[in-house]
Amino acid sequence: MLELDFHRSLLSLFLRRRILSLAMLAALAPLPATSLAYLIDGTKWLRGEAEFYVALPGLSSAEISWNSAVIDALNNWSTNTLFNFTVVEEYKDPCVVDGFSSIDFSKDFCGSEFGANTLAVATRRYADQELGSPNIIEADIVVNSEERYDIFDGPLVRFGLINKGLDFRRIALHELGHVIGLDHEETNPAIMAPTISDVFELQEDDIAGVKALYSGLDNCKIKRLSFGSSSESLSSGDCTVQELTVGGSDDSYIDLYQFEVSQSAQFEFSASSDTLDTVLLLATTDLEYLAVETGSTDDCNSTLTQTLDAGSYFLMVNTFDIPVNADCALSGNYDLTANFTSEAQYRLGPTTSLLGSFSQASFTGGISADDGASFGNVFSPWDSLDIIAEITVDPIHVGEPGFLMVAALLPDALLMLNEENQFVDVTAAGTPLRIYRSKVLAETERIDILNDLVPGPLGIFQLEANFVVGYGLSANPDEVYFHTTPVNLIVGIQSGDGS
Ligand SMILES: [Zn+2]
Repeated sequence: MLELDFHRSLLSLFLRRRILSLAMLAALAPLPATSLAYLIDGTKWLRGEAEFYVALPGLSSAEISWNSAVIDALNNWSTNTLFNFTVVEEYKDPCVVDGFSSIDFSKDFCGSEFGANTLAVATRRYADQELGSPNIIEADIVVNSEERYDIFDGPLVRFGLINKGLDFRRIALHELGHVIGLDHEETNPAIMAPTISDVFELQEDDIAGVKALYSGLDNCKIKRLSFGSSSESLSSGDCTVQELTVGGSDDSYIDLYQFEVSQSAQFEFSASSDTLDTVLLLATTDLEYLAVETGSTDDCNSTLTQTLDAGSYFLMVNTFDIPVNADCALSGNYDLTANFTSEAQYRLGPTTSLLGSFSQASFTGGISADDGASFGNVFSPWDSLDIIAEITVDPIHVGEPGFLMVAALLPDALLMLNEENQFVDVTAAGTPLRIYRSKVLAETERIDILNDLVPGPLGIFQLEANFVVGYGLSANPDEVYFHTTPVNLIVGIQSGDGS
């Protein structure tokens, strides 16, 4: 689904002091993020990591190898910032567009002359993303071999010694900052200053720049996706694409819903609204975009279907930054529906408990209309439904006297299954919770919540219910271990726009 648009751009010239010739850089530099000292435009690596190839022969006059200086610089960024370089000690030509990021010395810049006083040039290659600035997919460094270099810490010029050249390690450190996605910083002390200076180590500003660039998810509230339907809204105060992706000019609102898939399953997501022009996106939790659906221009709704393998995902509800449909707005309420079908029972989200104690219990469950051949959450009133759940009891609780509980959450009522296999209403405050079974806890507890339920003959033609099971120990009856993702059941309700 991604539209890839590769472009290679001349990014930076690291200049010698004295002569400042920033015209070229200024023409190419993207817009600065205002009020931040460090300079970033939002282009970044997926997952905040990159492989970097380095195999430079030879030693400096300080008898330190050029190679170890680059590796030192790579490790410096990895140790002190959120970014992680993987060092690969293998030669790759930085002038070849091959997907490998690398460094080399050369008397010219890939066939063109270095500008006057240019020590090194870093280039970045990008891939466009569904949201925000492009991702960096390759970044290379060419160091001007016509200059004289050495390797040393401290002031740029070593007093009392014959100057054997400029410190190569701080040049590598600076250029690697461009590789990560930093641009020149002209105000605060920084290794990313446009000209070489006495600064030879990463500065606070450099570290803060990487943090800002790679922690966009911290700017947004992440909700858990609940299957079934829910009423939501996109409005002021919500996260924007700009905040999420740290950069770009897209200031449209975006909601993030996280969910886990334990086994390949088919999903259908719908966002419908009379007012908000909805856009749906699916991404991994490291913001690798998998699918986008902008919806038809006839209405404001969007529906996205996708098969997903096991993993952790975000469903994103977004809108446009510039109106597309005159009948729809860029903020407002929407109804979100999330449906799925799977060949297996599914894992019922993170485990939790009433009193908050930790446990290693886990839960699976599902609803099947074909005796367990497939599981899902949307059924017709004439399907014969089996609703099951399985508890893997925390090993330290196995063999202890305990109890099982089953709850059904309806839009306006809370029901609990009693020992006679009947659902009783416990909605009213003060109503005691019901126990489904009292027993010595086994390793696995399977609960048949409902067997062969056909809703139609019971007069149920439209219903949404969420089932939760749990267990506890007789020795501590107030503590109940259960799951945060319920078993969702929708009867008779068409999803999305009814198409
Ligand atoms: Zn530079």
